[in-house]
Amino acid sequence: MEACNAYYYSTRDPLGRDGDFTTAPEISQMFGELVGAALADAWVKAGRPSEAAYAELGPGRGTLAADALRVLRAAGFSGEVHLVEASPTLRAKQAERLPDAIWHDSIDELPKVPLLAAANEFFDALPIRQFVGAMERKIVIAAGGLAFDRDGEIVEKSPARDEAAAALARSVVENGGVALVVDYGHERTAPGDTLQAVRGHRYVPTLVDPGEQDLTSHVDFEALGRAAAEAGAKITTVVTQGDWLNRLGIGARAAALATANPDRVPELEDAVDRLCHEDRMGQLFKVMAIHSPDWPIPAGLDR
Ligand code: SAH
Repeated sequence: MEACNAYYYSTRDPLGRDGDFTTAPEISQMFGELVGAALADAWVKAGRPSEAAYAELGPGRGTLAADALRVLRAAGFSGEVHLVEASPTLRAKQAERLPDAIWHDSIDELPKVPLLAAANEFFDALPIRQFVGAMERKIVIAAGGLAFDRDGEIVEKSPARDEAAAALARSVVENGGVALVVDYGHERTAPGDTLQAVRGHRYVPTLVDPGEQDLTSHVDFEALGRAAAEAGAKITTVVTQGDWLNRLGIGARAAALATANPDRVPELEDAVDRLCHEDRMGQLFKVMAIHSPDWPIPAGLDR
């Protein structure tokens, strides 16, 4: 999974209609703007530390960062922009929108300052391991191609995700700050095979054409939270994306955009529906923050 995704992301821009999948920031500017508003609110309540930096993990085309930074800049934030991105292809895309950004290979390389961090659909792309009982489920070369070596009740673990959550946690504990994690997944650890492959906006068999399709799994937010809490950070409750965006005022933002751009009403209504409706992204996608014990609980994530 690690090798496949490293190859996959470094050889293409997978996003958008002509690609393999579409993410929330690519659906509407409102998503990134509300991420920016939540981060700006936390930054203001933390006393507007001037050394704070915006950080993003796996920024794709840089759309979320551009939309979030518009709101952060309007709130008076003038800090640097730091991006953790493995793909040279996507780094080039991000540079078109964020010419002053500074790129890093890993979370541990981020500056030792309070981070206003976001990660949308980053954790799902980090590799998992699957277990059947005490045995790890492996992939073997069989007559017809690749195959799993055993079936049964599957439990998924992701040391890579745990380490990424712990690295964010160490940063906010040492330097202050907050990280918003948005992804599809579940609030509580549960058995089940959630490995999936997507190509051309359709689910496809996971073991076909390794490296040519997006390989992800559902994020176990309980495991992420445990890893972050063990590193000393505070974690918030897990809120569905639909509830979170509604709490942050996506309705008011859509109404303001509609008033200024009457011709965009159908597009805005569809975007709100796609992002928030429980049958679309609203329920499956979850939001959780990892934050410094000295920083407030970010807006929309308090109980
Ligand atoms: N956040 C963007 C893109 C999501 S796709 C959006 O919402 O549109 C996943 C992103 O994570 C891509 O930018 C991909 O290149 C990056 N990525 C995947 N694995 C990574 C890793 N191990 N290290 C750094 N970036 C990674």
